[in-house]
Formats: sequence, C-alpha cells, structure tokens
Amino acid sequence: MNNSGLVIVQELKGFDVTVGKLKLVDIDKSYRTGGSYLNVLKKISLEFRKNEFVSILGPSGSGKTTLLNLIGGLDHYDSGDLIINSHSTKHFKDRDWDAYRNRSVGFVFQNYNLISHQSVLQNVEIAMTLSGVSSDERKERATKALTDVGLADQIGKRPNQLSGGQMQRVAIARALVNNPDIILADEPTGALDSKTSEQVMDILRDVAKTRLVIMVTHNEDIALEYSSRIIRFLDGAIQSDSHPIEEKTEADAPIKQKKRDKTSM
Ligand code: ADP
Repeated sequence: MNNSGLVIVQELKGFDVTVGKLKLVDIDKSYRTGGSYLNVLKKISLEFRKNEFVSILGPSGSGKTTLLNLIGGLDHYDSGDLIINSHSTKHFKDRDWDAYRNRSVGFVFQNYNLISHQSVLQNVEIAMTLSGVSSDERKERATKALTDVGLADQIGKRPNQLSGGQMQRVAIARALVNNPDIILADEPTGALDSKTSEQVMDILRDVAKTRLVIMVTHNEDIALEYSSRIIRFLDGAIQSDSHPIEEKTEADAPIKQKKRDKTSM
C-alpha cells in the first residue's frame, strides 16, 4: 500500500466507511462574482439513503451542479453541515475530503471526462491510483468493471473509437471501480440520443439497487421513469421533493413518510 492509501485508511477510521445515509443541514453556498456574492444554495436541508435513485431537476443556474459538487466534496459549503452517516464534516480537512471522495463517491459527467490518449482499460484503472492496490489487481478490477457494463471487448480501444453511449459506460465503470456507496451523475445522458440514454439509465438503475445515486438532469421523462425520488430546484431552494413511482419496497416506506412531512425538510 502506498502512502496515499494509508492516509485514506487512517482518515476513514473515524467513521463508517460504508455510507448508508447523507444529511444536509442548512447548507448555504455563495460564489463571489465581481464585487458581490451570489447566493447559489439557500439553507438546503435534505436527507439521502442508500438504494435511493434521486433526480434533481430545475432550470439552468438554479444550483443543481453546485449541490452535487458539495455532496461529492468537490466544492465546500459556506455554512450548515453535511453529515456522513452520523459524522459531521464541519471540521473536515482537505485530506478527509480526499479520502471521502476517493473511497465513497463515484462521479459521472455529461462529457464523460475520459483521457483521450489512454486506453479504455487505463481510463478505469486511473480511478484506483490512490487506492493502494497492486497493478495486477487494478487491471483485474478494471476489467471486471468494464465487463459489468458490457464493454469487455473494448478495453484496448481509445475513447475516440467508441460511441457516446460506450464512452459513458466507461465513465460509469470508472465511477464504480472503487465500489463507492454514492454515485453522483451530472447530466449523464445530456449528450446521448434517447436509445443510448436508455442503455445508460438501465445501468444506473441497476447501480442504485445497492447504492445511493443522485443525478442532475434536464430530462423530465428520464427522471420520472428511472428515479425513486425527484427534487426540484428553483433559485437555490427546494421547490418540491416527491416520489414519482408508487411501487415502493418496504425499505423505502419510512423515507416516503418522512419526506411528506414538510416540517422535516
Ligand atoms: P445548475 O446546475 O442548476 O445549472 P449551477 O450550480 O451550475 O446551476 O450554478 C448556479 C449558479 O452559480 C449559476 O449562476 C452559476 O453561474 C454560478 N456558479 C457556479 N459555479 C460558480 C463558480 N465556481 N464561481 C462563480 N459562480 C458560479
């Protein structure tokens, strides 16, 4: 195990590595633009659990991506708290955020964010650079992740030899290869046609069976068809928070009840 791997293990000792619950409490975020501040997220309180597939909808500029970035530790809130299981992140240092991101979160972006001069396999292996695993194991795990998304026969190719849907599947394999509990997807089908979008969404729906998936999307139809919960944003605030699918499992029932109680939000 390299130094980075050791740091990760040490830093995560303080709380459960398995993330079962995320709680945002009065999260506020502003950006400085010119001489003034733009308040992008206004006292957002939300709770997420494993096995949820959450879609976040709302007009451009309403704060969706900012929310996703804060949840993933790519950016930091100004005030409030992000609670991972029961562990406050108020006093997280950069190392703690790095550890959380590397171990617990996988990201999927609209433009795939693949490295063009590396092979498909290398693009997935790169996610394990900080995980401390040997190169043999990296190769084995990357191959399995790519096989799981139906790309076993593409591992030697470069990203530009693949279709958009295939590139997004590589990105999903990369997001999953460290076995994170949380997948954050920002417009994952934004660059895909509807048939290819379905293939990608089918994979994400499968992923959400054992993880928490939070997806920002402009596609209302996809949100309604695939997610178990839809949160609508408007001007940095939650406009609504509902469950579009009636056929819920027993496990989801308590969440449903909770979210209907507006006082808990
Ligand atoms: P959405 O995802 O809903 O389109 P964003 O979260 O990307 O919204 O952005 C919300 C607002 O915050 C927008 O007005 C955007 O221009 C602004 N914003 C986002 N990131 C930054 C940043 N790093 N610096 C300054 N302003 C930003």
